[in-house]
Amino acid sequence: MRAPSHSVATPRSSASLAHGSSSSAAANPAEPRYTNAQLHAIEHAWSAPNYDPMPAVLATGSGVWVHDVEGKKYLDMLAGYSAMSFGHQHPRIMSAFLAQAKRLTLASRAFENDQMGLFAKELAEFCGMEQTLPMNTGAEAVETAIKCARKWGYLSKGIAADQCEIIACLGNFHGRTTTVISMSSTPQYRDHFGPLTPGFKLIPFGDAEALKNAITPSTCAFLVEPIQGEGGINVPPDGYLKRCAELCRKNNVLFIADEVQTGFGRTGRNFACDHEGVKPDMLLLGKALGGGVYPVSAVVSSKAIFSVFKAGDHGSTFGGNPLGAAVAREVLRVMRDEDLSRRASEMGDWLRLRLREVTSKGGKVKEIRGRGMLNGIELKKEAGPAYDYVKKLLGEGVLCKDTVKQVIRITPPLVITKDECEWGLERIARVLA
Ligand code: PMP
Repeated sequence: MRAPSHSVATPRSSASLAHGSSSSAAANPAEPRYTNAQLHAIEHAWSAPNYDPMPAVLATGSGVWVHDVEGKKYLDMLAGYSAMSFGHQHPRIMSAFLAQAKRLTLASRAFENDQMGLFAKELAEFCGMEQTLPMNTGAEAVETAIKCARKWGYLSKGIAADQCEIIACLGNFHGRTTTVISMSSTPQYRDHFGPLTPGFKLIPFGDAEALKNAITPSTCAFLVEPIQGEGGINVPPDGYLKRCAELCRKNNVLFIADEVQTGFGRTGRNFACDHEGVKPDMLLLGKALGGGVYPVSAVVSSKAIFSVFKAGDHGSTFGGNPLGAAVAREVLRVMRDEDLSRRASEMGDWLRLRLREVTSKGGKVKEIRGRGMLNGIELKKEAGPAYDYVKKLLGEGVLCKDTVKQVIRITPPLVITKDECEWGLERIARVLA
């Protein structure tokens, strides 16, 4: 495991980064040294209020540790909602990033580049599928899948014009673009953003019978997170994904798995669908695919399904750029070489046991659940909102995040060691005592 160290992600100091520098130099030495409070005030004044971040202004990170501008150390038990699954400044991912940054960063899709085709091949092979469509963010992968599923519905399934319907689940989170929020069941994500995109139907998560009843001849796809992340770390009953995939196959409906958060070892298998031996028709990937250094997302599917797209139907200036592609290719190699899925499975089982042990005396916890390293602590109603505890944990030097009202998610980088977990567990025990 890499030793915790300060490091700075700037062109100026980046050469030493990949070699484990412990330099704590400022991002720009010509700039004054700001305090947490000063930078918080600047961000609050100048940045649009669509976020309400915790009051820690992070400046450097290495492995599972990050430091704020005043040098306070934190254990990262959120890991950028899975984007930092390999930890901060993973040496191999940083090396790939820096090496490619010096070669070619963008070709645009008007031309080919020497990384994209190899990325598409290696990712499709890693997923056991046929083709890759690269994008940048998770929401874009979802948008891409919606367009592809609809066009497939019209051209392959023969659904009448503008009648395609996609079934999604209550409590889902698939991103925040206008079309994606149109299938959200969270009022805040929808309210005052209409008119929303029609063509979505919502059913309860974890209920395969509900899917069976909801499918009509106009259904082109079922879109599901194998474990709902933002919705509260909701693990469906065993056999759910398999049953849904069977229902989809039987009814000529595409089974689309949004593994933007659950993918790349997070749940203890390469993909959460692997737990049930399910191969989706479309696999949506993001976050960890970019190694925490660059936004890379993708839809992975079959030649038959992607064949509905003609040149010009869909695209993105940055999708498939050589920098992102080179980073993602190294991510796939690191996944294999560091055996991270197996590690996440073993560590996750141990972590849930330890979380139960250290919180058992406090009487505040209703349930500890999850799979692999995607875990949630659900608090009892009378314990008050999870946000209050997340704030206390920040004070103790542990970064994590509440989701829905009562759940604290504990989703550290997959490279975390037991000793590093114990450092966090000691503080979680104190806060939940
Ligand atoms: N799908 C899932 C399952 C997610 O968890 C998220 C982000 N939390 C997204 C899609 C959207 O990803 P992005 O923020 O990169 O657009």
